[in-house]
Amino acid sequence: MDDERILTQLANNVVHTMHQIPQLSLLPVSELQNIPLGRLRRDATRLHAVCRYQKGVKKSEISGPGDVRCVDVHPAALTNDWQRYAAFLLYHEFLHALGFAGHDKTFRNLEALWPDLKARGMGKSFGTHLQKRCVKWLWKCPQCSKEHQRTRRGRGRYRCRECQIVLIDVKQSENLRDQ
Ligand SMILES: [Zn+2]
Ligand SMILES: [Zn+2]
Repeated sequence: MDDERILTQLANNVVHTMHQIPQLSLLPVSELQNIPLGRLRRDATRLHAVCRYQKGVKKSEISGPGDVRCVDVHPAALTNDWQRYAAFLLYHEFLHALGFAGHDKTFRNLEALWPDLKARGMGKSFGTHLQKRCVKWLWKCPQCSKEHQRTRRGRGRYRCRECQIVLIDVKQSENLRDQ
């Protein structure tokens, strides 16, 4: 399945689950299905998902899903391992879309109603997962072969602590990084 279909299916499931949460019963949950879904850039590391509002709409003035331009989710969250977290991310952004703009106590209380407890706690490990994907370079000691994982090239500026030899840059292959 491609990302778009995964997203649509996840969103359908999330809206279905939201219909069963009594605290949301008076809100326009069905309208959430009209929100265009998209993906963040693959190399985004800090943002996991975002709710983008229509031009000219201020955060404090959100009245409902009609004020939302799109909800974007990190593509790395759409793989099998992370889909339940992606569902929780959609739930989080959909709460924003319903008019709960900030992360105040009301918002956190609603967020905690998401029934998948494990998914609610996956934010930190997903963050670590994204960071690992950024490792593009190894700084390698040509003498003892010790490797340091880095996001940037070393450009011959660093030495091995043990051997005092200048570390060389080795580019990580894309395949390796995606594992
Ligand atoms: Zn938020
Ligand atoms: Zn060394």
